[in-house]
Amino acid sequence: MAKLILAVNAGSSSLKFKLFEVPSEKVITSGIAERIGQKKGVFRIKTATGEERQTLPLPNHEVAVNVLTKALLQFNIVKSLEEISAVGHRIVQGGKYFEDSVEFTEEVAAIVRRLIPLAPLHNAAHLTGYEAFRKILPDAFPVAVFDTAYHQTMSPQDYLFPIPYEYYEKHDIRRYGAHGTSHKFISEEIAKIYKGKPYNLIVCHLGNGASITAIKNGKCVATSMGLTPLGGIMMGTRTGDLDPSVMYFVCDLSGKSIREVYDMFNKESGMLGFSGISSDVRDVENALLQGNERADLTFKLYARRVADYIGQYYVRLGGVDVIAFTAGIGENVPRLRKQIIDEVKDALGIIFDEEQNNLTRGGIYGLITTKESKVKVYVIPTDEELMIVRDCVRLLEARNK
Ligand code: ADP
Repeated sequence: MAKLILAVNAGSSSLKFKLFEVPSEKVITSGIAERIGQKKGVFRIKTATGEERQTLPLPNHEVAVNVLTKALLQFNIVKSLEEISAVGHRIVQGGKYFEDSVEFTEEVAAIVRRLIPLAPLHNAAHLTGYEAFRKILPDAFPVAVFDTAYHQTMSPQDYLFPIPYEYYEKHDIRRYGAHGTSHKFISEEIAKIYKGKPYNLIVCHLGNGASITAIKNGKCVATSMGLTPLGGIMMGTRTGDLDPSVMYFVCDLSGKSIREVYDMFNKESGMLGFSGISSDVRDVENALLQGNERADLTFKLYARRVADYIGQYYVRLGGVDVIAFTAGIGENVPRLRKQIIDEVKDALGIIFDEEQNNLTRGGIYGLITTKESKVKVYVIPTDEELMIVRDCVRLLEARNK
């Protein structure tokens, strides 16, 4: 029988949602509550006739969830809230505790709370979202879907840092990775193409936040993000990997505290800080087209960082069958994809199809290498919400057995 399942991504001042019907996986509606906690909040939801937008006070997440449930009824999207059988919550940091999605119980909430120091903005907001839905939709099965869970198959030599061991033993300082839901989704899409045959895959999830994952037969063996999302490749506003001494020298030169420089590395670096233009790749590309040299160097730096990880993971996996690009930049920026592949194509025997590359953007799924290419390169739009919903279905079925 058809059921409705809600995928939720609660941020510190926003709450994104997408309602699916299963098993058809049809999207019934989606939307966002923004500026939660500010004087004027904004609520948007897709309806049968278009998009409804309301400006109203959203003092906290509970009010936002109330507004959402009322809108579902008001716009006849659901007849009764009881039609929603499960709510799947995206959780950024699950630490070492979760290898898979789980029923979101009070015990799970306690662990998510304990992990707040590792993801202060995210985990705290996820908990507020969870508590709001528990009050307003008490009968919907709550599920926690962790961005870190997919990376729990890494071996110690992949997740440990060479610092005194006690920081791992006593404080769990290690690599956890992120974007696991997206990497897993892409891996499952590739598995469909390989139909049970073994495959080695490198997924380049290039959004504002970005990470690269090496996958062997569906399992993650290595990922670029580290203890927090600051590690790995250069991003919209984050540095990615650095020589740790850069932190020391920037503190010393700027007179800023470690906390302030940490914030600078998270929010004012990457494309934004390096280009001096924007964190949005579209603005940097426009500047590049107008002859801006720093914009040109920003693209070169970005491509090199991604290419270095592809090279490393190619060796780590013992060869690669598929490289997949996904997320905002991976799905939409042919110039950067070309620059990245140009860096690795000779070593990896890739024959790039420039025409297909230029055509594949705006949510299109496609192969951007020729038949002769030794490694296939795909563009695959990610769908983290659908992955959350699939996990809800799996856990609901397991519970009802
Ligand atoms: P996140 O989920 O991490 O916020 P996204 O996956 O939405 O990030 O990616 C955001 C980035 O992708 C933007 O900063 C922009 O640079 C790029 N992007 C998104 N859509 C487009 C597009 N249609 N054309 C070009 N670039 C895009």
